[in-house]
Order: sequence, then structure tokens, then C-alpha cells
Amino acid sequence: MKRSFFITGTDTGVGKTMAVYALALLLRAAGRDVGVMKPVQSGVAADGKGGDAEFLRTKLGLRDPLEEINPYSAREPLSPHVAFRRAGVRIDKDRLVAQFRRLQERHEAVLVEGAGGLLVPVTDDYLMADLAADLGLELIIVARPGLGTINHTLLTVSEAERRGLRVAGILFSDTVGSRRGIPEKTNPAAIHKLSGLPLLGTVPFLRRKGPSSVLSACRKRLDIRPLLDPVVSRTSELAGLDRKYVWHPFTQMQDWNREDPLVIDRAQGSYLIDTDGKRYFDGVSSLWVTVHGHNRREINAAVTRQLSKLDHSTMLGLANTPAVELAAELVRIAPPGLEKVFYSDNGSTAVEVAVKMSYQYWQNTGRRQKTMICHLANSYHGDTLGSVSVGGIDLFHRVYRGLVFRTHQVDFPDCYRAPAGKRYPQYAFEAVDRFGEFARKNRHKVAALVLEPLVQGAAGMIMWPDGILKRFEKICRDNDIFLICDEVATGFGRTGAMFACEHEDVRPDFLCVAKGITGGYLPLAATLVTQRVFDGFVFPYRDMKTFFHGHTYTGNPLACAAALANLELFRQERTLDKLALKIRRLASGLKRFRDIPAVGDIRQRGFMVGIELVRDRKTKEPFPWEERVGARVCRRVRDYGVILRPLGNVIVLMPPLSMSVAEIGHMLAATRQAIVDVTEELGDKK
Ligand SMILES: *Cc1c(COP(=O)(O)O)cnc(C)c1O
Repeated sequence: MKRSFFITGTDTGVGKTMAVYALALLLRAAGRDVGVMKPVQSGVAADGKGGDAEFLRTKLGLRDPLEEINPYSAREPLSPHVAFRRAGVRIDKDRLVAQFRRLQERHEAVLVEGAGGLLVPVTDDYLMADLAADLGLELIIVARPGLGTINHTLLTVSEAERRGLRVAGILFSDTVGSRRGIPEKTNPAAIHKLSGLPLLGTVPFLRRKGPSSVLSACRKRLDIRPLLDPVVSRTSELAGLDRKYVWHPFTQMQDWNREDPLVIDRAQGSYLIDTDGKRYFDGVSSLWVTVHGHNRREINAAVTRQLSKLDHSTMLGLANTPAVELAAELVRIAPPGLEKVFYSDNGSTAVEVAVKMSYQYWQNTGRRQKTMICHLANSYHGDTLGSVSVGGIDLFHRVYRGLVFRTHQVDFPDCYRAPAGKRYPQYAFEAVDRFGEFARKNRHKVAALVLEPLVQGAAGMIMWPDGILKRFEKICRDNDIFLICDEVATGFGRTGAMFACEHEDVRPDFLCVAKGITGGYLPLAATLVTQRVFDGFVFPYRDMKTFFHGHTYTGNPLACAAALANLELFRQERTLDKLALKIRRLASGLKRFRDIPAVGDIRQRGFMVGIELVRDRKTKEPFPWEERVGARVCRRVRDYGVILRPLGNVIVLMPPLSMSVAEIGHMLAATRQAIVDVTEELGDKK
């Protein structure tokens, strides 16, 4: 595995450039082909002439063009975020990452020199440490040898650890030719002892800067062996343990064991990184949960802060700070009328709670006949038995039919395959009206209708025509039936609004949320209810009308802290405002899929996309399920650096809301190619 390094200082002016120079010479002497990069530098001419980057390029005789070694230079000797703002230059971090990758392809090792220390801002909201993480590099920390360096160095080390950055070693650099006093002699040992990190030695003060004199001066003083050790890949060990001990969800384990599992070790932004350092675009947001990207500084900080205050405390009989604050916040952003928050831990339990509450409400308030729960065909509300009871996907639910309670399934059509002689979208409205009829006749019996507003996700991204949701709401109102909206998938921006209900100004009696609530960090769910529902449970204790339900980890403070930070990011970054443009880009990029013969239907609602593959576009004849076309496309797209997970023959795209426009292009190009590859292979076979 290639090992490249990010060289950061404990402060500015600690001699990083000479350290890079010396390390490059020594690595070269050890037989490595070394490149360098100085992503941003200030205090030099705008073309980079006369700066550290040019010095390194010339002295090391590198052939990479200067603008590749140093993409950004600014004249004023200020922190980059100010120097470049004043120079009218916008730093594009994606360009830096792309540039680094080009250099890394050319060389065995690239030494990337930061500017100043880890917490120096590159732009207003992007620090050197973020850049090191985005480049996926180990750190080499350069420190002064003299008095004060223990504190500076250990602070840098602990910040690196806090951010999950690996430190390969600590190097001292003498920039002034200082006399070797007691601090210079004793500090390195102290730092080694306190940090446990390898010391790479001290670059002496160098008067003569020619390569041969620097090399001979540093040979004895520097020990680069810790940088030469190959990074031992744990992939095969972990794959073996996985096979031996782990049972994966929704997975036929016979298939699983045929191939080596991909083991994810780290993540950054829109990317997952495996145990071999290979990066994959997270095209399904780690199963529909990631919102602002992985490893977000703000959410990390919120969870870490909370961790040092309170890990967990029960909601049974006690309150806790973040759970209280989050409840107020959820009520503030939810559709009007929802006033109380009941926490649980996942989407299934959020729905289960709503179903039990709606049932018990009518028991508690004396209308004991109202016991029937209605749900739609093709619905998915989770995997616990209560939520399986209201599930309408035969493939997942058939085997458990003997275990679940009776419900009324509302006949509701697929948006792609019309019943014979019917036209879209009329037949969808006709189906709603038939339910209206049913509801009128059975209003004394029906307790609640549970549905996924606008998008039936797990059924294959089935999307409704506008106006359907509103009509369901009216039927429920007219007949005093509770409307339970399961926004586990659609909530938190997925459809372009905070909640899907907002698109049609729908006010449910119950709102179930989970997945995106913590930005994708921790398991947490909530069932929001109206005052009326809540009041149906407030009686003297002896009446036995309490809601007897509660999970042990409910309202976990760490998860609630992550959720609060997630909502704060929605505000700060104006995530929903920015999403509109990206949704349009996604839509226009998807148009190019139409010319693939196997693409039967392309469905999009905001950042939820389903691409349905069919054997025959005219007749809409599906591929036989045994061919597992969806799974094969998702396996293929992995070779193009993208992770997807299909639903049968439907390719699902559910990228993080934070993805960039450039990333949309990359994800679509890879997906398109994978569909073409796999469907052409199938065509050849015929
Ligand atoms: C994922 C999902 C659930 C289940 O959530 P879990 O956290 O997996 O239990 C319920 N409803 C909908 C609409 C979902 O997409």
C-alpha cells in the first residue's frame, strides 16, 4: 500500500519546509519515488514563484508543474482564509483533493505540507485538519526543539487523535541554529513518553541547502524507519472473522460467503473508505441515514461534548438535557399540531409506538370498537412484528403472516404498472376514493391509517401523484380516523422539504421519524403526536390508561446531541435552500439514462431516486427475480467506486444531502455505466 503523509506544524514557522525537504531526500535514498505538494501558501507571489513549493520543486528536481504542486498562492502573509479572501480567490477543496490524487498516482509517496498547524483555517469553515482527513493521510508533526514544545506538540497530538487522524511520527526542526540546551535534550524523550509516538529525530539548522549536504547532515540525525514500514492490511483477517461470526441483515448468507466482504474502516464527507484505503461514494447514505456527510466536525464535536458530560440516563422516571431540548426543537420544525414527542430507537419502533397508541387511544376514550388498523399495499414500516403487521410487501412479510395481527390492507396501485384499461394518475385517485367509501362504512371500526407520505421507499421507490396524500388526510378527518405518517425515510430533507407532509400541507395525528434524525450518526427515533392523542392517555393512575411502552435506551443523550447538531447544521448551512439546485441537477443527469433500453422507469422525488430495470420496456415485463439484475448492477458499480443497494430490479440512489454537484456527476456516470455493462451482458447471454 502506498504511504503518503501530511506534514503539519505545532505552530507556524517551525521549519516544516526543511523537514519535508529532508524527509523527501531520505525517502528517496531509501529507494522511494517521492512527490511533494503544498496545497495552499500565503506570503508569496500569486503564481507561487519564490515560495516554499518552488524551493522544494527546484531542490528536489521534480518534474510536476508548479501549479500542481501548489494550486493556491496568495501574496499577503496571513492565515489562508484571510489571505485568499482578500485576494478574491475561492479555494475549492475538491480541486485540492483531485490534484493530490493525480500526484499520488505519479509517485510512490507524496509529502503534503500544510500551512501552520492543524486548526489553521483554509477557508472560513474548513481547517487544515479537514484537508488532511479529506486526503486520507497520516500525519507527521513537526515541532520546535526548544522550551514550550511539549505543550504545543501534545495539544496537536490530542487534536489529531480526537479527529481520528493517525500520527506516523514526530519530527523536530531547528530553524535558528539554537544552542543545544537542556530543553532541546530532554523534550523529545518527554514527548515520546507522553504520546507514545515514534520520534523521527531532529533536522539540524542548515546553512548549506544543496541536496547532498542536507542529505549527509540528516542521515545520522533522522530515523525514517517508522515511515517505511508497510501499513499492514487487516482486510483478510477481518473478512475471515466476519465470515466466522457475523450474520448480516436482509442477506442470504450462502451468497455472502462466496465473495470477500468489503470492510469499511473510515468515512469522510460523501465517501466510505475500506480497510485498504479505497474510497467509495456512499450512494445510499448508509441505508438512507447520512444527511450532512460522514465525519462532520460539528456533529462529532457535539457528540464528544455530550460524551464528556452524560453518556446515558433513563427516560423512565427521569429527564435529560439533550432529550428535552431536542423534543422542543422537533415540535418547532414538525408540521403544525404535533405537540408531544415520544422517543424510541429505530424506525420500526417509531411506527410500532404509533400503532399501539392509536389503538389504545380509542380504548382509553371509550370507543372500543375502533380497533382496525389500515395500511396501504406495498407499504413498508419496519421489521418488528407490529410494523410487519402493517407491511404490504409480500417478499418480506409473507413468511410471518402466521405471527402478525389482522389489519385492513388498502388496495393501492403501483405508479408504474397501471391496472388493465386504467390510466395514471386517475387510477390512484380512484383507489383513494374506494378507501374513502370503505372508511365511511367502517368509521366506527377503524382506528388509524398508516402510510409513507409521497414515496413508498422499500417497495421500490413508488411515488404518488400530487394530491393523493391530501385526499387521504381528508378521508381520515371526515371519519375520525387517525392519520399516521411514517416519515422514517422521507423526513429530514429527503424530498426537498424538511418533511414530505409539508408538500401538501398535511397535518398528521402521528409523525414517525428516525433514519436521518441524527444526521446518520446514532440510532434514535421519535413518534410525534397531537395534544388530542396525548390527552387520551392522561387519567388517574388507577384507571390503568398509561401508555405501557418504553425501550431501555430511549432518549439516549448522545443520540439526542447528534440530532440537535444535525438540525443546527440544517439552519447554518441552509441545507434545504441549497438542495433545490442539486435536485434539478440530479433530474437533468437522470434524463440521460432514458436511452438505455433496460431502463423502464426513472422516479425521483428530491434526493430519492428509483431506476427500474425491465426486460422489455414496451410491455414493462420485469427481469425475472432469479437473475438479480439490481444486485448485479450494484456489485458492478462498486468497481467504479460507488456503493449502492438495490430493491429488487430497482436501482436506488439516496445520496447524502451534502453531496456536491460534481459528485452528482460522478455518481450518475458510474451508475449509468454499471447498468449498461450488466444489461448488455444479459443481452449477450440471450
Ligand atoms: C427504514 C424504514 C423503517 C424502519 O426503520 P428501522 O430503523 O430500520 O427500524 C420504517 N419505515 C420506513 C418508511 C422506512 O424506510
